Amino acid sequence: MTSPPKPEPDDPMTQGNSILVTGGAGYIGSHACKALARAGFVPVTFDNLSTGWADAVKFGPFEQGDLLDRDRLDEVMALHQPAAVMHFAAASDVGEATRDPGKYWRNNVQGSLNLIEAMLAAGCLTMVFSSTCAVYGDADGVTLDETQPTNPINAYGASKLAIEAMLRDFGASDGFSSMIFRYFNVAGADPEGEVGEHHRPETHLVPLMLDAVTGQRPALTIFGTDYDTPDGTCIRDYVHVSDLVDAHIAGLSHLMGGGTGETLNLGTGHGFSVREVVAASGAITNRDVPIIEGGRRPGDAVKLVSGSTRAGELLGWTPHRSTMAQMIADAWRWHQSDGYRR
Ligand code: UDP
Repeated sequence: MTSPPKPEPDDPMTQGNSILVTGGAGYIGSHACKALARAGFVPVTFDNLSTGWADAVKFGPFEQGDLLDRDRLDEVMALHQPAAVMHFAAASDVGEATRDPGKYWRNNVQGSLNLIEAMLAAGCLTMVFSSTCAVYGDADGVTLDETQPTNPINAYGASKLAIEAMLRDFGASDGFSSMIFRYFNVAGADPEGEVGEHHRPETHLVPLMLDAVTGQRPALTIFGTDYDTPDGTCIRDYVHVSDLVDAHIAGLSHLMGGGTGETLNLGTGHGFSVREVVAASGAITNRDVPIIEGGRRPGDAVKLVSGSTRAGELLGWTPHRSTMAQMIADAWRWHQSDGYRR
């Protein structure tokens, strides 16, 4: 494990340097913990391990707990007195959200309300929140900036939009400040191979595709080949997980330096169809992806691509590793490593 740099004692960014990371045992949360430790913070993971992994908690203390358990939240807040919270913990499977919306309203919305109220009770007023481009819904092919109307088409997007509204309400009434990041599609893995992507069950395109390449799954099913796009498959904007978490550190720094809360898209502005992602992997793995052309997945938008440069302008955020080739190469290296569970 790479040891993080020691915090500078008089650096305002790292005074009171515990940051509570909900979902810190998950894919994006574990990468955020690494980035926080690098920046001189102590990332305290709060995770119920329903989808995360205890052995992904490598960069700071671990507190097992569930956002629906307010007493446990109060206990952890009192113990660590975090200066801020990075809130990743959520159910996030679009397909499941259409089958079981109650889970999304309970886990995501009720869980976030508990978290915010526990923070207020502890005097912690700063949050970086993991939202999603799914709040925009099916935007009919336009590139999306933050002023686009929100109109989620599944309970996942709806639950995240409700939390956004909640954060703005608490901002107005309690001085709560939050940086809301609407992620596009996150891919890749830690370039140093310490953490990577592994959901259970896996539902995301890149790991499923690499499973098909290695034979761990018989094939990748393409969900819909009759969309109104150049090759008939859905288009997404993919951003490298390392770039994504860099934006979180910059957002945290902005809030801790007294900056106002914002709602910002995190994407690159480049759209890739499912077939383009599949084609790009061949150059990295030197193998074909066995594919099955399947039906559409309920809840899928045709095209989700960011059209915003606000995160760059406000936070100086520039994605460095978010080419498709780099994301697949980093994911492929992780996929073949001992850390990846087969
Ligand atoms: N996708 C697919 N087959 C799969 C998984 C995903 O064709 O087995 C497609 C999905 O329909 C979407 C894109 O890949 O167009 C990205 O899906 P993913 O689940 O990775 O992320 P989402 O866009 O749902 O956040």
